[in-house]
Amino acid sequence: NKTIVLASRPTGTPTAAQFQFEKREVPTPEPGQLLLKTLYVSVDPYMRGRMSAAKSYIAPFAVGEPITGGVVAEVVESHNPQLPVGSVVVGNLPWQQYSVADAKTLNRVPADKAPASYFLGLLGMPGLTAYFGLLDICQPKVGETVVVSGAAGAVGMVVGQLAKIKGARVIGTAGSDEKVAYLKSLGFDEAINYKTTPNLGKALAAAAPHGIDCYFDNVGGAITDAVYDHLNKHARIALCGQISMYNATEVPTGPRPEGKLLKSSSRLQGFIVSDYLPRWPEGVAQLTEWYTEGLLKSEETITEGFDQIPAAFLGLFTGENTGKAIVKVA
Ligand code: NDP
Repeated sequence: NKTIVLASRPTGTPTAAQFQFEKREVPTPEPGQLLLKTLYVSVDPYMRGRMSAAKSYIAPFAVGEPITGGVVAEVVESHNPQLPVGSVVVGNLPWQQYSVADAKTLNRVPADKAPASYFLGLLGMPGLTAYFGLLDICQPKVGETVVVSGAAGAVGMVVGQLAKIKGARVIGTAGSDEKVAYLKSLGFDEAINYKTTPNLGKALAAAAPHGIDCYFDNVGGAITDAVYDHLNKHARIALCGQISMYNATEVPTGPRPEGKLLKSSSRLQGFIVSDYLPRWPEGVAQLTEWYTEGLLKSEETITEGFDQIPAAFLGLFTGENTGKAIVKVA
């Protein structure tokens, strides 16, 4: 039973050295518990925060203990009649081939609705992040212009599609020409390769001739600074993530961009998807309905093999994934 523990806390960009493979006994489930076989592991940018000891909205991973995150697993031994052997579940579980959990900490995956891995992406935490951040905070109206950074990732691909459903003009930024083509194929009106575009400000001005009403920010940094130059009066910004700064070792200083929010009377709101926990069932139901109707599509980058989990995680910071990054374990 292989497991991956946090070997040490990274300074700057994490490397394979932070992840240690260990062998553990297959755990024995107690009354009410289940023995689970890991099928799919989700690798997510927020895990970088948990690798560091800094205080945040969620406790750090402990050094020497298994890393945990979103996992889809199959029940292989059941001591709970509600989840019989063969059930597929999703929950927060260790990076481990076999684990035990209480039934009440798991949700059953409705296998008839969508591929099981989608419950780690489009129909799981990232999809819900897009759903609540865009619809609750940005509230795009018909004809408005929405910009989403990190657009070709797990959250971003859903944000753009939801904004189209709401009748907005949608612009995405992403890090390769392949991702730009992917975003166009999803129905984005414009997509910008931020790595090769010499003047991001000019490109945004051309893509958003009427200015920007909503900005869903997944990345922060220079992309966000450029977006802030084009905000319309009363723009709404959902601050979802800042991946461009997760590995930074110093706070960037220099001219501050916040004044641009003042000039445009914009509203900036940070949020954590768990703020909306009581409304998750509503979100999953609505996303599933739009997916079933063909209004939402999902892309996944699936890496094969338990041993590849660290590499798939590290690949998030170099843009290896298009859509949701998943590791298929079994
Ligand atoms: P993604 O699937 O988008 O994967 C990460 C992507 O980030 C990469 O593919 C890469 O794409 C891009 N990226 C990496 N480094 C940089 C950089 N320096 N500058 C710009 N882009 C970069 O991840 P998720 O969709 O799961 O998460 C997206 C964001 O949302 C993250 O910041 C994450 O922390 C945040 N998040 C927040 C939640 C909340 O509750 N607030 C919940 C879930 C996620 P590219 O090739 O385009 O560079």
